[in-house]
Amino acid sequence: MRLSSKTKVHDFKVGVHTSIAGGMSKSIERAVSLQCTTMQIFSHNPRQWRKSQITREEGERFAVLRKKYDISPVFIHASYLMNLASRSDPILRKSIKLLSYELTNADALGAEYVILHTGSAQGENEEKARNRAVKSILKAVGTTTYSASLLLENTAGERGDITSSIKTLSEIIDTCHSDRIAGICIDTCHAFSSGYDLTSYEGIETLISEIKEYVGLDKLKLIHLNDSKRPLGSGIDRHEHIGKGFIGNRGFKKILSDKRIARIPMILETPKKTEADDKRNLKTVFSMIMKGQKEING
Ligand code: MN
Ligand code: MN
Ligand code: ZN
Repeated sequence: MRLSSKTKVHDFKVGVHTSIAGGMSKSIERAVSLQCTTMQIFSHNPRQWRKSQITREEGERFAVLRKKYDISPVFIHASYLMNLASRSDPILRKSIKLLSYELTNADALGAEYVILHTGSAQGENEEKARNRAVKSILKAVGTTTYSASLLLENTAGERGDITSSIKTLSEIIDTCHSDRIAGICIDTCHAFSSGYDLTSYEGIETLISEIKEYVGLDKLKLIHLNDSKRPLGSGIDRHEHIGKGFIGNRGFKKILSDKRIARIPMILETPKKTEADDKRNLKTVFSMIMKGQKEING
């Protein structure tokens, strides 16, 4: 979100996950109308395996517009159908192909990052599932030389999740040992659902110190800012409007006044029935950041 002229705009990057309905570049217009300085999109219908190619014209138009409006970085959220740890060979093959496709699309649009939920063990031994995910990622990034890179997102701890703790997330990254993985995305709803108590300074500190220890704070490239409809440790992934869920204003005030967090690009994936929802959530975040900065700067 663009801040007033008194504040240093480059200090904060806030945006929302924006719809691509009507064409890829439409998403930029939507982000601009919400005064976003960064954005996230799907590169195609995320609930379909079938996919169409982004045309050169479409890619160029997107690149020109995002430059014009100075929207950066651009994040692409990978399809939800993907399970890179699947025990089913057909699903695995399709998932690997789909991940390569997301990277191809990212390059066509000039987007910097592709965000990924690594996969689910589906009742299998988690270590085995993680190893399979590693192999799949390496296959997907190995097919072409891509410019865009991957960010692995922490998950909510639903049954079979192999990436709900920072440690397990880091194990996948370390084992991949690929320069196509730029780091991680932390989703606040997922972190809370998987047991990181973001309503307290201690909980926030636990999360940050684990990121420092296992991944490195410089590899934290994106925060998904979502409140949670379910209580701490529920293991259930249900996003809520900022301040209206179990993390609440109490939690987000602390999160957004943390200097180490506020300087990372933030994307909202909060519920969206109308345009007003995005506007209201952005306004809440914006005012919390401003208050947080005042407290930091005294
Ligand atoms: Mn996600
Ligand atoms: Mn997320
Ligand atoms: Zn989620």
